[in-house]
Amino acid sequence: MALRNKLMVINAGSSSLKFKLFQMGQAGEGGALSAIASGVCERVGDPSASFLRAKANGSEESKAQHAMPDHTSALGAVAQYLSSAFTGDFTKDVHGVGHRVVHGRHMSQPALISAEVRSTIEQAADLAPLHNPPNLMGIDAALQTFAGVPQVAVFDTAFHQTMPPAAFMYALPYELYTDRAIRRYGFHGTSYKYLTTQAAKMLGKPEAETNLVICHLGAGSSMCAVQGGRSVDTSMGLTPLEGLMMGTRCGDIDPAITSYLAAKGMSPKEIDQMMNKKSGFLGLAGNADLRNHAEARFGPHVGGDAAERSRLAVDVYIRRVRKYLGAYFMHLDGQVDAIVFSAGIGENSAPMRREFCRGMEFAGVKIDEAKNEGAGVGKAADVAAADSRVRILVLPTDEELSIAQQTVDVIAAASSSAAAV
Ligand code: ADP
Repeated sequence: MALRNKLMVINAGSSSLKFKLFQMGQAGEGGALSAIASGVCERVGDPSASFLRAKANGSEESKAQHAMPDHTSALGAVAQYLSSAFTGDFTKDVHGVGHRVVHGRHMSQPALISAEVRSTIEQAADLAPLHNPPNLMGIDAALQTFAGVPQVAVFDTAFHQTMPPAAFMYALPYELYTDRAIRRYGFHGTSYKYLTTQAAKMLGKPEAETNLVICHLGAGSSMCAVQGGRSVDTSMGLTPLEGLMMGTRCGDIDPAITSYLAAKGMSPKEIDQMMNKKSGFLGLAGNADLRNHAEARFGPHVGGDAAERSRLAVDVYIRRVRKYLGAYFMHLDGQVDAIVFSAGIGENSAPMRREFCRGMEFAGVKIDEAKNEGAGVGKAADVAAADSRVRILVLPTDEELSIAQQTVDVIAAASSSAAAV
């Protein structure tokens, strides 16, 4: 018998396919979702080297070689793994599949995948050439593997569709916006949506009355100003390159640097690669991971060129975050309930959080050093001092859970509107 009590989330990249499987609670349990399996197919497209790493039901992670010439075979390997981890043909128990789709252009809500939605994702591939085509491959693979199961696209850009024109327009000729859809879109929206809900709960306020500055600081980093539960500004733009410095991305630079380098003979592709893959922590200090530089910046002083470059990279990163913090406090007229720190750096690095908030008492922000140091990995915490007007929250993000929840909601809304017809 088909139970239809599981929810699958898929995040397909160019050579990878990540999945997370959730058990849906009974209606009586509030419909809660709990993760029961997860994994990633790596080196998809290279059948001699591709493999699946996965775990289910609390087991140790296993790694197995599978020939995966494409995303359909990768998802086939996942389905096979899950069918043996759970009893029978697990695909029959799947209620819905949620897909992370990076760029959704004007889409402001997650949507059931139809021919029209598929074509929006295809059109947006022009703006997100590295992300949307593999997202589509994941969708096509899932349409085959989970035939007849509702599929939902959850867009990373959707949460930011509430930005006002003054925030999303570039000061370029207006026709670039009308004719080519060149504007700021913003990303990490699934994370911001989830964190807004979590923060409002923690603050004991309705989302619609909650103002936040959220810092999603990982290998990819961005920030978002949330007013009344809605995004009013964010640091990423047309692509995920704008804004903060990141692991390998430069973030904001003078755009004239690109034309200068082009005039010196670099091709557009080389410039793009340099800004996206060879800049940020990697470009400044030789390694993309903050953990490799934090000791030089926060530990006992060591001399030498490498340590100097590490300190410089960390300082550039901190300065950029503080610049956006200041800007977003202004956008919110100083009416900020909480600063939220999330993702790899935001959740794990107490010294970075301390530096971001240093000297912000004038804006009502005062960190409690002991609480900040004591914030447990993977746990929500308020690390603000008791007399801080603005709370400082450390919140683990969970983009897959957010995608799963949104998928359940879209399917429920679609079936109730179908029933109403
Ligand atoms: P993404 O989802 O964008 O790939 P994550 O949110 O997983 O990135 O963040 C990964 C980054 O977080 C790492 O590259 C590293 O710089 C940083 N990070 C993770 N753990 C720590 C830590 N304990 N201290 C400092 N930085 C950390």
